[in-house]
Amino acid sequence: MKILVINAGSSSIKFTLYETDGEKLLAKGLIERINTPNARLRYSNHRDQKIENDISANSYEAAISQACLALMDKNAGVIDNLTEINGIGHRVVHGGAAMSESARITGVIKQIIMDCFALAPLHNPPNYEGIEACEHLFPNISMVAVFDTAFHQTMPPAAYTYAIPHEIAEKNKIRRYGFHGTSHRYVALKAADLLGKSMDELKMITVHLGNGCSITAVNRGQVNDTSMGLTPLEGLVMGTRCGDIDPAVVIFLRRLGYSLDEVDKLLNKSSGLLGLSGIGSNDMRDILQAIDNNNLQAKLALDVFVHRLVKYIGAYAAVMNGFDALIFTAGIGENVPRVRAMVCEPLEFLGIHLDQARNKANEYIISCDGTAPLAMVIPTNEELMIARETHRILMA
Ligand code: ADP
Repeated sequence: MKILVINAGSSSIKFTLYETDGEKLLAKGLIERINTPNARLRYSNHRDQKIENDISANSYEAAISQACLALMDKNAGVIDNLTEINGIGHRVVHGGAAMSESARITGVIKQIIMDCFALAPLHNPPNYEGIEACEHLFPNISMVAVFDTAFHQTMPPAAYTYAIPHEIAEKNKIRRYGFHGTSHRYVALKAADLLGKSMDELKMITVHLGNGCSITAVNRGQVNDTSMGLTPLEGLVMGTRCGDIDPAVVIFLRRLGYSLDEVDKLLNKSSGLLGLSGIGSNDMRDILQAIDNNNLQAKLALDVFVHRLVKYIGAYAAVMNGFDALIFTAGIGENVPRVRAMVCEPLEFLGIHLDQARNKANEYIISCDGTAPLAMVIPTNEELMIARETHRILMA
C-alpha cells in the first residue's frame, strides 16, 4: 500500500510517501512559509534526487498540490498518478480525552478535532486545514487521523488529574493529556522489537529530547504517566519552554505588570535552554560549545536541563516499581552522548551503567553487558508510525 503522511503545521507542511510493504520510504518533502510570497518546497526521493523550488502556495490546498506535483515529477517523482496513493495519514496533535486510538476520518472525527481547537490553538487548526485540503484534492482516498495525545489516554486518573477543584476541571476539560505520544509509542515498540519481546512484557521510560522534550512511563504497553500536561509547556526543560515551574510565578509576573500575552511568550518562547543560557540560541550544539568556552550561564542551563530529567526518571521508576529500559530519542536524545552520560551517571544507584564506547557511537544499547535496566538510543520515526497506523486502520 502507498500511504501519504501529512503533517500540517502553522506555516509549513511536511509530507512523506511510504510503501508499507517492507516499510520503504519513497519520498519526503517540506513546504515552508505557506500563505506568504516566499513559499518554498524541498523534496527528495529514495534515489536521493532532489527538488528545491520557490512555489506559489497561498493555501494548504495549493501547497499540497505542489507536493503532489513533486511526487509525480518526471525525473524525481515516485508515482505516475495520484490514484496510486491508497491512503492518507494525518498527524493531529490533540484528540482530547475522546481519542485513545487512531481513527478513519469522518464527520464525527473532524468535529472532535475542532472541539480541541481551544486545547491546541497553534496545532489543531492547521492539522484540520490539511485534512480539508486533502478532502478536496483526493475525494476518493480514505484518510486516517493519528493523534499525538492518543497513546497517553491509557493513563490512570491519578496521573492525569490536577489537584484543582473537580467541577472546574471537569467543565473546562482541564487535565493532563500528554504529547509526543506517536514518538513515545514508536520507540517503545521498536525497543521491545529489538529486545525480542512484546511491549506487554516490558516497563520502559521513554525520553524524547528535541526542541520540545517529554518523558513517559510505559508500563507493559500502558502509559502510567507523562510529563507534558494540558499543554506541551509542562514537564522537562525544553529549547524555549520552561517546563515545570511554581504556578504562582505566573501570578507573580501578572502582579508585576506583565500582560497575559507577555507571560505566555516568556514561558513558551523565551525560557528553557534559550532563556537560561543567555547565548541567544536554544540549540544544544551551541549550548555545549558555549560551555566548552567556559560560559557559566550555559553550564547552568544544561545542569538545570539534566537535573529536571534525572528527577523525572527517578519519579517514573518509582511510579512503575522499577523498569527494564531507559530509552533516549529525538535530536538531543539520539545525537548527544555527553547529555546521555550526564543523565545516566546519577542513576547508577538504579543499576544503569553506560558503556562509554557504545554511548559515543549512538548504538541501540548503550549500557554495559549484564547490567539492568538497559539504556538505549532509538531514533524516532513519527511519520513511519503514522503510515503504519493508517495502513492498519484502512485494512481493518
Ligand atoms: P524537533 O522537536 O523540532 O523535531 P529535533 O528532534 O530535531 O527537534 O531536535 C532538535 C534539537 O536536537 C536541537 O536542540 C539540536 O541542537 C539537537 N541536535 C540535533 N542534532 C544534534 C547533534 N548532532 N548534536 C547536538 N545536538 C543535536
